[in-house]
Amino acid sequence: MEYTEIMVRYGELSTKGKNRKSFIDRLHGNVAKVLKDYPNLVMRPHRDRLHIQLNGEDAQPIMEKLKNVFGIQTFSLSVKVSHDFEDVKAKAIEMMHEGWKPGMSFKVGTKRSDHSYHLDTNQINLQLGDAICDEFPGIDVEMKRPDIKISVEVRQDGIYLSYLTVKGAGGLPVGTAGKAMLMLSGGIDSPVAGYLAMKRGVDIEMVHFFSPPYTSEQALNKAKELTSKLTVFGGNIKFIEVPFAEIQETIKSSVPEGYLMTIQRRFMLRLTDMLREQENGLAIFNGEAVGQVASQTLESMAAINDVTTTPILRPVATMDKTEIIKLAEDIDTFNLSIQPFEDCCTVFAPPSPKTRPNIEKTRKFESSLDIDGLIERSLAGVKITTIEHGDHFMEQQQEDISTLL
Ligand code: ATP
Ligand code: MG
Repeated sequence: MEYTEIMVRYGELSTKGKNRKSFIDRLHGNVAKVLKDYPNLVMRPHRDRLHIQLNGEDAQPIMEKLKNVFGIQTFSLSVKVSHDFEDVKAKAIEMMHEGWKPGMSFKVGTKRSDHSYHLDTNQINLQLGDAICDEFPGIDVEMKRPDIKISVEVRQDGIYLSYLTVKGAGGLPVGTAGKAMLMLSGGIDSPVAGYLAMKRGVDIEMVHFFSPPYTSEQALNKAKELTSKLTVFGGNIKFIEVPFAEIQETIKSSVPEGYLMTIQRRFMLRLTDMLREQENGLAIFNGEAVGQVASQTLESMAAINDVTTTPILRPVATMDKTEIIKLAEDIDTFNLSIQPFEDCCTVFAPPSPKTRPNIEKTRKFESSLDIDGLIERSLAGVKITTIEHGDHFMEQQQEDISTLL
């Protein structure tokens, strides 16, 4: 069938009252960014739908991209026919022939935005239903859970028919919840935390700490490549790289080994918070999960969190590692995350960090350091770039050889 349009249904937007317009504008903008390589498309955002006119473009790759855009509940491919009801009947029957298999039930559902049309919603449902029953004798009509639903939309410019509905990504359009920093390592958890933040509409900027010469260029590129993977969910992402070696060396030579990790993390958080302020962000996200490792006990979190009152959000806090891995696989970051490039925290990890650091002691050990000077020098070396969809920083993974055999 020659489809003419993709009809996008909004997700939670419908509950957002007067913010609706800005939500729709943002979703429209995000969809336009993701589909920028298809210049023939014409998009028309309406109150409860976004219509994407295909103008001859192949629908399949476009639908693949739409599946990743947050704020979309479902979408359907539809065909436009004239207002002549015979055309509508013929197209509905053609659709049934395409999608129906013996034993399947059906239903017709109509919406009218053009109220001047000579048939009302009920009449359309009944007359189309009758026409389909005549064509498929014995077919069941099922109102609650039909196997096929022929959706009809009567508009001024024509009548639109569809029957296949694809599930969207849900969530809220990226950008509608404001901006926040994501502390991105090269590990498994923080990209997943970033994905979940984006799902709730947060516009994230990456903050990544690296420690040359202790960490390699590849470790930095891995974090950038992970960022690139996340651009499919919301467009460009700022990447802020923060040099951390001097701080780590200083801490290592001055504080008791058991507190190395806690104090390093406090510096990371202070720096992230300053960058957040500079970038007008509202919160900080990270990939911590309760109890996963020594730095992620509740005592540890409290000792690290002590340096700021900014909200620290931990989307994977209550997930098991296996659940996080499953999500990492779904969003295609897992294989990259497990590549073995040393992270700055691993390089300077003490053999036995305190799992229950004491806040008072932490503050005391830290007080001998030139905190302001260390932070100032690190901030002076910060580099900010923007990572776009399609940017690459590492060699692409080898194609799975089994597909070539
Ligand atoms: P991840 O898989 O996200 O690396 P992890 O289980 O390895 O997490 P840690 O290495 O203890 O845990 O890090 C906890 C969190 O601290 C990370 O999820 C991330 O948010 C932040 N973090 C760790 N290392 C860095 C880094 N080099 N740059 C920025 N943030 C970091
Ligand atoms: Mg890590």
